[in-house]
Amino acid sequence: TVVTRFAPSPTGFLHIGGARTALFNWLYARARGGKMLLRIEDTDRARSTEEAVQAIIDGLDWLGLSADEPPVSQFQRAERHRQVVEEMLAKGAAYRCYASQAELDEMRETAKAEKRPPRYDGRWRDRDPSEAPAGVAPVIRLRAPLEGETVVEDEVQGTVRFPNKDLDDFVLLRSDGSPTYMLAVVVDDHDMGVTHIIRGDDHLTNAGRQTLIYRAMGWDVPVMAHIPLIHGPDGAKLSKRHGALGVDAYRAMGYLPVALRNYLVRLGWAHGDEEIIPTEKMIEWFDLPQINKGAARFDFKKLEAINGHWIRASTDADLVDALMASRDILPNGGILKQADEATTRERLAEAMPGLKDRAKTLVELADGAAFLFAARPLAMEEKAEAILADGGRQVVADLLPLFQAVEPWSAEALEAIVRDYAETAGIKLGKAAQPLRAALTGRTTSPGVFDVLAVLGKSESLARLSDQTG
Ligand code: GLU
Repeated sequence: TVVTRFAPSPTGFLHIGGARTALFNWLYARARGGKMLLRIEDTDRARSTEEAVQAIIDGLDWLGLSADEPPVSQFQRAERHRQVVEEMLAKGAAYRCYASQAELDEMRETAKAEKRPPRYDGRWRDRDPSEAPAGVAPVIRLRAPLEGETVVEDEVQGTVRFPNKDLDDFVLLRSDGSPTYMLAVVVDDHDMGVTHIIRGDDHLTNAGRQTLIYRAMGWDVPVMAHIPLIHGPDGAKLSKRHGALGVDAYRAMGYLPVALRNYLVRLGWAHGDEEIIPTEKMIEWFDLPQINKGAARFDFKKLEAINGHWIRASTDADLVDALMASRDILPNGGILKQADEATTRERLAEAMPGLKDRAKTLVELADGAAFLFAARPLAMEEKAEAILADGGRQVVADLLPLFQAVEPWSAEALEAIVRDYAETAGIKLGKAAQPLRAALTGRTTSPGVFDVLAVLGKSESLARLSDQTG
């Protein structure tokens, strides 16, 4: 069975690029009845706080990409990593190296002078350990092949060849007994039963060295797929100056998980010309060969358009849930924290058909819903005030007594009255609707004004209209 994994280092948030890597791993496993595991690469103790780890798990959960088993901590597996190195020593696949810092510095200087990458020269490879200087703790290095090449058959990058003369006897265990990253990744992937490694192509050069460790242990090398990184709109590697990097920030901007998945899957992967891809279809269609080799560019406008699509495609009930669940996260979520939650939900649900066509994010949706909960007398936007000042108050004053008589209060009945009024007065319907909208919402944009009247209800509508007629 297929086992994939997502192996982030804790940085304080789930990186948006990491989220795409997780999505690819999750999709690949889902389509094949396999599982995706989560390994936290937490060997940098200073950064690996409980909150930083939780932020990754929360981000994955919110995106709907939870791992199929509890996370594995790389740090806690250090004993096992040391054990593997012992095995390698025992079979001669690794050796102790006592080179001093001064010697290593000299090798680096020489390489620099000769304008070639630094490389350990193997001076302890065949030396008798009895020559070891007293009191020096050795590092343990891999006895790497000196000739030939190491080939990585990558599902995205194709055949990648590493001349073995470039892969030196790299360190597996430091002199303080701590495992190196190179070793830990291989041992963990092997022990976790990982069959497919899908990760950023910044790890491609590691893949050659890691392959040597698999070979030394006689373990199967997993299938590898190194995916291109995400770049900003300007083509430079995605960074803070392009926009938010953390998935939590995208949540706060009002993006829906289904939309973010849809957007992320298209970064570097395509299925024909399909832009709107429901998650079931992604699972059906996703595969490694269609991943581009070139970097994908982040396009904020496109993300917004896709989110708008998924807002329109969501049920009213789901949108009410999404809004209420994000009350503490959306910058304008405060208006959704009314004392009576049930009534808040009810009013949102009633207004939702008129609201959701206008919103591309939950922030815009909350903004559009603000009129429902606004306190009287309403704060007026400048343009709304101008409409009222420019003859609008007279229209409101004319319509108010007609509305008072409406029973039952319905959008249809109100519309009939306003149409009739406009016709009689010889004005366009909009000339009557705009002042009403201004008086009812304090704005010049809102759902259809008759829907606004219906959603607000009779007494609140009449009160808001009266506020403008003095
Ligand atoms: N921890 C590495 C990273 O955050 C990923 C290592 C891997 O996937 O092998 O980039």
